[in-house]
Amino acid sequence: MSVKARVTKNGAVLLGCSVACDAFDDSMPLRVVTHAHADHLSGLRKSLKFCSKVLMTHATRDLAETLNESLNLREAPLETVDYGKVIRYGAEQIMLVKADHILGAAQVLIEDAGGIRIGYTGDFRIDGTPVLECDILVVEATYGSPSCRRSFNVDVRELLVSMVEKRLRGGTVYVFGYHGKLQEVMQLLRDADVSVPFVMPERVYQVTKVCEQHGMRLGCLSLSTDKEGHELLDGNLPCVAFYHMNSRQYVGLRNARICVSGWEFHLPCRQIGEREHLVALSDHSDFDGLIEYVRRSKAKHIITDNYRSQGAVLAKEIRKRLGVSAVAMPRNTGQTTL
Ligand SMILES: [Zn+2]
Repeated sequence: MSVKARVTKNGAVLLGCSVACDAFDDSMPLRVVTHAHADHLSGLRKSLKFCSKVLMTHATRDLAETLNESLNLREAPLETVDYGKVIRYGAEQIMLVKADHILGAAQVLIEDAGGIRIGYTGDFRIDGTPVLECDILVVEATYGSPSCRRSFNVDVRELLVSMVEKRLRGGTVYVFGYHGKLQEVMQLLRDADVSVPFVMPERVYQVTKVCEQHGMRLGCLSLSTDKEGHELLDGNLPCVAFYHMNSRQYVGLRNARICVSGWEFHLPCRQIGEREHLVALSDHSDFDGLIEYVRRSKAKHIITDNYRSQGAVLAKEIRKRLGVSAVAMPRNTGQTTL
């Protein structure tokens, strides 16, 4: 079989003859950024310099720009693309398809001159992600081990809302998470009619503003450095403070604290400190979700991303459970092609 898809040792997901996703590759004229998380922006400066087109959704462009102020994402070769729009390049057609992960996240589907369909999931959560039906599929493998299953019999979102509501009676509640996930929690709380102010530092505020520009409705927001934010936090008044996970050691040490993370599989909620709980809210599919996606894609050749996560176990499980060809790339010994 000719070379249709592979993952390079630099983490570029190469699809068809022209597309490199989520890292720079000097053999490909097109670069696609599936979403604004840092491990998918690799080599973007080089792509902007050497590629003929750099494609991403409008929301991903705005988030990437907010998180990397020195990048110029306003000029060619950058092009923002809507979900479902077909881009033609040479004999290939390229389309971005929604992925349920963070704002703006996309999957990538290529159809080559011979009608072969090649898909790449990027990061995704199966619930809200349309499955790409394709011949060859590159799939993320973050929770690619059978030990990574979340079969809780409670709704984690409802649990999170009720935990925040309960703790607000004692004053400020701190929520720690990654960009994108924090804003998902904000939306969950607003949808559940939690109307207290949300307080956050500058960077989280900027990301939240981008989410609002793209349709999220997040109510009253205050900067932690403004007078109002100071008063709320210093007075331990009822509000929710949202901080990046990296700030966990430094802020809100005397308050009720909730960390949102996908790396929890046994309990929907676990106490991890005197006033601190971890809630298993993930923006990736668990193991069962990954297998289900691959099954529904009907792809006959699967490549698991072995650059951003340990793809070998998932490849083995796909072969065993679905009886289709599956390899992890890059291989530890170097690049392999399918
Ligand atoms: Zn991601």
